[in-house]
Amino acid sequence: MAYDTNNIFAKILRGEIPCKAVYEDEFALAFPDINPQAPVHLLVIPKGEYVSAADFNASAPPDALTGFYRAVAHVAKLAGVADNGYRLICNIGADSRSEVPHFHVHILGGKKLGHLLGPPVAE
Ligand code: 5GP
Repeated sequence: MAYDTNNIFAKILRGEIPCKAVYEDEFALAFPDINPQAPVHLLVIPKGEYVSAADFNASAPPDALTGFYRAVAHVAKLAGVADNGYRLICNIGADSRSEVPHFHVHILGGKKLGHLLGPPVAE
């Protein structure tokens, strides 16, 4: 799948759409999800053009991989969920119901979370 430079997170990275950044470095940008599913629900995105975790993990250079995943852990600490625990989610492709084709990690926490998968959703 080719990277769509008009996806919403690409626009956020270019500053064309505002976000309330909670963390930014050369590898990653973190901001709250617009539709939070838990008291803490942050998105962490890499600065490079990767459509999914599969694309990022296969294609990104080692410094980008290390920098990004360290940023995810750092953001969880900043958000105050590192001690009690949190969930990371990466949706990949259609069956996961991924909406935005720019790799992102969801950080969810701030309460005891429900089961890993919610109830089935009608097609
Ligand atoms: P996905 O389903 O692709 O894993 O997750 C995409 C997430 O992006 C969703 O949880 C959705 O609420 C969030 N989202 C979509 N558009 C925007 C936006 O414009 N700003 C922010 N902050 N989050 C967004």
